[in-house]
Amino acid sequence: MSAFDVIILGGGPAGYQAAERLGSHHRKVLLIEPQFLGGTCLNVGCIPTKTLLHSAKLYFHSRDAGSFGVTVEGLRYDWETMQGWKEEVVTKLREGIAFQMKRSGVAVIEGWGRLISPPRGTEPARVQISQGEKAGEEYSALAVLVCTGSVPIIPPIPGIQNNPAVVDSTGLLDSRDPPQSLVVVGGGVIGVEFAGLFSALGVPVTVIEMTDEILPFMDRELAPLLRKSLKGVDFRLGFRVEKIEGNTLAYTNREGKSEQLTADRILMAVGRRAQTQGWGAETVGLDVGPQGVVVDEWMRTNIPGIWAAGDVTGRSLLAHGAYRMADVASQDILTYLEGASPRRGTFRMRWGAIPWVVYGINEAAGVGLTEQDAQRQGIPYKKVTVPLKVSGRFVAENGFGIPGTCKVLADPHKGRILGIHLVGPYASEIIWGAALILEQELRIQDVRELIFPHPTVSEVLRDAVWAFE
Ligand SMILES: Cc1cc2nc3c(=O)[nH]c(=O)nc-3n(C[C@H](O)[C@H](O)[C@H](O)COP(=O)(O)OP(=O)(O)OC[C@H]3O[C@@H](n4cnc5c(N)ncnc54)[C@H](O)[C@@H]3O)c2cc1C
Repeated sequence: MSAFDVIILGGGPAGYQAAERLGSHHRKVLLIEPQFLGGTCLNVGCIPTKTLLHSAKLYFHSRDAGSFGVTVEGLRYDWETMQGWKEEVVTKLREGIAFQMKRSGVAVIEGWGRLISPPRGTEPARVQISQGEKAGEEYSALAVLVCTGSVPIIPPIPGIQNNPAVVDSTGLLDSRDPPQSLVVVGGGVIGVEFAGLFSALGVPVTVIEMTDEILPFMDRELAPLLRKSLKGVDFRLGFRVEKIEGNTLAYTNREGKSEQLTADRILMAVGRRAQTQGWGAETVGLDVGPQGVVVDEWMRTNIPGIWAAGDVTGRSLLAHGAYRMADVASQDILTYLEGASPRRGTFRMRWGAIPWVVYGINEAAGVGLTEQDAQRQGIPYKKVTVPLKVSGRFVAENGFGIPGTCKVLADPHKGRILGIHLVGPYASEIIWGAALILEQELRIQDVRELIFPHPTVSEVLRDAVWAFE
C-alpha cells in the first residue's frame, strides 16, 4: 500500500487546485479522478458553455451591428465548427491541468476512490480504487480532501426517463445539431444561460419556472430586468411541469391553469446536488447534511484529518467558490501536516463574499446581501441604485436597448458595504472588485478613495458610492 501525505478524491476545480497547491509545497499528493481532469467546470460546465456563448455573441452582435455602422452580409453560424472550437478549448485546457499536476509532482490515478477507514491517531486514512487499471488497490494518507462535486437533479416528472427529447446540460452541450426549438425546465443559472445562448442563435426558447421570478437568489428588482433583456425567450413563470409525453410538456400554475407546449428538445435544468454517495462518507462516519458534507470555515469536516471542498459541501455550487475552498483547505492541511497549532482567523471562508454571475448577451452578477436578504435577516441598510446608462462606455457599446443597473447596499451607521448587485454587459468582469470590497469589509468612504479607469463600465461603482447621502 503506497503512502501519501494527502489523497484527494475528485479532479474538478476544487481537487486539482488543492493538488497543485499541496504538491508545490512538496507534499506527496495523490489525486483520484474517474473521468476527466477539470471536472464538471472544464468538461461539461463553465468552459464549454462560455465557448459556445462566445460564438453566439459574435453572431448576435453581427446581426445587430447595422445600428453601429457595420453591415455584415451573408451572416450565418455553423454549429459543427462551434462544437469543434469548444472541443479544442476544452482539450487544450485539460492538457494544461495534466501538465500542472506533473509540474507539482502530483500522482494522478484514473479511477473511483472510496474511503474505507478514516485517519485515527497516528494511523493514516485508507482509500481504495474501485474501477480502472488500479481497481482494488489501496492507498494511505495522513489527510484526505473530498472534492467529489455535484450531479444534476432529475425531478420525478412522468415521461422524463428514456425520453430522447429530454436532455440535461451535458446532453445539450454535446448535441450534434442545435435544437430547432427548446423548452428549458427551470429558471436558475444554468437554465437562463442556455436560454440566452440558444435565443441569441435565433432558436425559439421557452423557460418554465415554478416560482414567480427567475433566479430566486437575485435581488427582486434586478431579476426582472435581466429577464426582460432576454427578448427572444418566452418565460412561463409560476408554472409546474406535470408530465412529458414525447416532445410535449403539460404544465399548470397555482390557479389550476394548464398549458401544453411542444418543442424539439427539452432541457432539464432544475438544479444540482452534492455528490455525497458512493465514496464512503457513511463508512467513515462523515457528517452529511441536506446540502452536502458539513464543513466549517476552514473546510474541516467532523472527522479530524478529513476536509471537503467545492460543490460537495453544497455551500456554493460555483467553480470560483470551489477554488477558494480548495485554497483554504490546502492551507489548513499544510498546517495540520506540519503539526503546528491551527492558524485560525485570517485564511478562512467568508461565505458571504462569494460572488455569482449569470452569463449571456446581458449579464448579471452580485456579491453579498440583496435587499430581500437584509429585510429577511432584519439587518438595517441604506441603498442606492444607479443605471448603467450614466457610463459613457456602456452607452457607446450597447446603445439604449440593453438594460443595466447597479445596486449597492450599505450599513446606515458605519457605511460598511453589505451587497453589490449588477445587471449589464461586463458585470462578470466588474464583480471581482465588488467581492474584494466585501471580503475586506470596506466602507463607502474606503471605496470613494479608489480610482476607477475612465471610460469603463466599472465606474458605475464609484458613482454609486458617491450617491450615498
Ligand atoms: C452547465 C454548467 C455550467 C456552469 N457554469 C459555471 C460558470 O460559468 N461559473 C461557475 O463558477 N460555475 C459554473 N458551473 C458550476 C461548476 O461547474 C462547479 O461549481 C464546479 O465544477 C465545482 O467544482 P468541484 O471541483 O467541486 O466539482 P466538479 O467539477 O463536479 O468535480 C468533481 C469531480 O469529482 C469526480 N469524482 C466524483 N466522485 C469521485 C470519487 N469517488 N473518486 C474520485 N473522483 C470522484 C468527478 O468525476 C468530477 O470530475 C457550471 C455547471 C454546469 C453544469
